[in-house]
Amino acid sequence: MASVADIFETMEYGPAPEAAAPALEWIAAHQPFGLFIGGEWRKPSGGSYADSANPATGKPLARIARASTEDVDAAVKSARRAFEGWSKTPGHVRARYLYAIARQIQKHSRLLAVLESMDNGKTIRETRDIDVPLVARHFYYHAGWAQLMSSELPCMSPVGVVGQIIPWNFPMLMLSWKIAPALAMGNTVVLKPASYTPLTALAFAEICREVGLPPGVVNIVTGDAREAGEALVNHPDVNKIAFTGSTDVGRHIRKATAGTGKRLSLELGGKSPFIVFDDSDLDSVVEGVVDAIWFNQGQVCCAGSRLLVQENIEERLLHKLRARMERLRIGDPLDKAVDIGAIVAPVQLEEIRRLVELGRKEGATLWQPSWACPAEGCFYPPTLLTDVSPASTVAQTEIFGPVLVAMTFRTPAEAIALGNNTRYGLAASLWSENINLALDVASQLKAGTVWINSTNQFDAASGFGGYRESGYGREGGKEGLYEYIRPAWEQLGIRDQEPEISGDGAHQAQAALQNGHSDGHQSKDGGELIPNPQHLTPGLSALPSIDRTPKLFIGGKQVRPDSGYSAFVYGANSSLLGEVGQGNRKDIRNAVEAARAASGWASTTGHNKAQILYYLAENLSVRAQEFARRIIQMTGSAEEEAGREVEASIERLFTYAAWADKYDGAVHRTPSRNVTLAMPEPVGAVALVCPEEYPLLAFVSLVAPAICVGNTVVALPSERHPLSATDFYQVLETSDVLAGVVNIVTGPKETLAKVLAEHDNMDSIWYFGTADGSKTVEYASAGNMKRTWVNYGHSRDWLSKEQGEGREFLREATQVKNIWTPYGE
Ligand code: NAD
Ligand code: MN
Repeated sequence: MASVADIFETMEYGPAPEAAAPALEWIAAHQPFGLFIGGEWRKPSGGSYADSANPATGKPLARIARASTEDVDAAVKSARRAFEGWSKTPGHVRARYLYAIARQIQKHSRLLAVLESMDNGKTIRETRDIDVPLVARHFYYHAGWAQLMSSELPCMSPVGVVGQIIPWNFPMLMLSWKIAPALAMGNTVVLKPASYTPLTALAFAEICREVGLPPGVVNIVTGDAREAGEALVNHPDVNKIAFTGSTDVGRHIRKATAGTGKRLSLELGGKSPFIVFDDSDLDSVVEGVVDAIWFNQGQVCCAGSRLLVQENIEERLLHKLRARMERLRIGDPLDKAVDIGAIVAPVQLEEIRRLVELGRKEGATLWQPSWACPAEGCFYPPTLLTDVSPASTVAQTEIFGPVLVAMTFRTPAEAIALGNNTRYGLAASLWSENINLALDVASQLKAGTVWINSTNQFDAASGFGGYRESGYGREGGKEGLYEYIRPAWEQLGIRDQEPEISGDGAHQAQAALQNGHSDGHQSKDGGELIPNPQHLTPGLSALPSIDRTPKLFIGGKQVRPDSGYSAFVYGANSSLLGEVGQGNRKDIRNAVEAARAASGWASTTGHNKAQILYYLAENLSVRAQEFARRIIQMTGSAEEEAGREVEASIERLFTYAAWADKYDGAVHRTPSRNVTLAMPEPVGAVALVCPEEYPLLAFVSLVAPAICVGNTVVALPSERHPLSATDFYQVLETSDVLAGVVNIVTGPKETLAKVLAEHDNMDSIWYFGTADGSKTVEYASAGNMKRTWVNYGHSRDWLSKEQGEGREFLREATQVKNIWTPYGE
């Protein structure tokens, strides 16, 4: 006779379907769906519609409008009109709207969950218990920030009209991540849902109407990537694009928006490691893996898709895992007892099949449960690939499906190396009962989120976003708000005219020399340039004594430029001040290598960094007069002005010495029993392209914040007035700055900036120069999706504390890593 336990084992689940009827009725009453523009439903101007299908059945679900370029334009115009009022609406009033939206989402939660399941194919268990509650949570949380904005974010303004483009994997959750913070901070939005999954966004539009949100604050335009998506990205009156999707499209958008002055945040793909040490609780690990790679059919940007397991427990873990996989249930997403739903669309299913096949060809061993998937609809079984080599396609490419690749490691160092062996850096999950080991590894993983003994934890109170090619910007937490605000003094867009001071003075002289022009050359400020092709160092005798030509400063040493060229530097009255080394591509390569090699700087203590910055200030102060004289020579500043610049530079070093042990993070109040540590980490190797003005102060104002939080830098000083930076070599040498932390390359600044922007080993580039140069830098950064901070040709007041220093700089110098550490037995 069968025991009760046996019966439990053998008993089949009966079907437990959630009713589809209310959602189908809602669809029938609305379709064909229009575009939500200016608070009203509009027919698409081209009269064009497309079907959104239910991937579990393969059948069409609803007729959806396809927005034309004109429709997108109408939506942007309506958002612009609404911005006038919304941005001036008191925070409390905005909070009331966001709160009302959250309430409405809760009231309609079941309808939204069912719609999401039918449109996307994800299980009702997930939409009901995870997606929709988190959506409501995001609106509640950000209602709070709307309320607190004026007190907690003083002197900050909204960015303006924001174009938001989201993927299909978490349609409504991604909408909430985008819309809630944007509205809270006083922006208005035009959102384009993914074409596979528009329905919950359209239901959300109805909620906006229900709560009486002012028309135009939220606009929803459905349509194709090519037309509606491109139209939004390219619209001249959009101030920012917030994008979540694939890295390829992110790269395309980076290029398309380069130099336009549009702000950009990107949440892109991933290939996140799931690291299991031999002392972890294996039963929890197995449940963790299920959540990491079979949640939402593995169509999760932060899916733990690479299982890295310590060699000595591999067999045991994989055995348990296969047993668990055998018991996963796949099928009708509306069945409440189903674990795995449908893949979003046939092309995605094909792509998963293609990649798995490629994996097998490359030598992987495939394991799938014995049961079969439903024959109808888009289903793919949970899949385990073993015998995978770290460099193989399936170990490097995001599969975006229920496919786990497993590899082994022996030591923690190897686990970290393997974990970081990806161009992505979205998330990581790591398992160990040893807190020392876990936190040590967490700190070394290059990922925006690290989950210790847990995975796929999300909450509005925690930031989420990538390192490296997983994108930049954060969504959630206080850190996420900065994507939707700017300092109130900062001008938007590009500066039409280039600033008067331009960087090509030395350049012209050099060109004149090489072309053999002996005629007097007009400098920008009207003075005559002196170059004389007959003598290599003309007029030197008439000048204050110059005993050396500064070289480049790379890896803590003064080195000759590879080119063997130097260029003349002219002073205020076109007098020749000396020569400066002309760096080239090879020098940049060396400087980048030196900056990379000095990455140990990041792990020195804040106190230690502060000491070095104080020491720099001290040594600069000792030579204050000399530096002031140099500024006068170069720029013709009045004595008093030059003195002020030096004093301000010393003070700035003090500012960042002060910050070095104070720019800290937060412990976010996420709801589960855990500490969520939001830690600002250095971005890595940062290129600094200095403006032409304030040759000492601006240089110091960029170098100091970057190194104060642990970055290493390659700086290109003012091209026209480079000698303050080259004089600074000796200050660096006498101040115990670690070799390679600060590297300085003089020469043709715009050319070298482009080389740095293209360089795959730089993590970020700051550019203060022309509008054109800003465009070049942003465009060239797309190669490895490095972060950029450019000025679009606007100058800032380097002397002022508001514009020349502070948190804005420190934020640009850091990226927030959120480490989730659950507690309790
Ligand atoms: P996708 O990049 O193809 O599309 C995303 C969105 O961009 C869609 O709305 C699409 O219509 C639009 N789009 C596509 N091409 C466009 C263009 N040229 N101009 C303007 N808009 C365009 O990605 P997907 O297949 O929908 O989503 C899957 C990808 O998204 C995965 O790579 C995944 O890792 C990533 N993702 C990332 C996160 C994150 O937070 N980092 C979250 C979810 C998904
Ligand atoms: Mn669909």
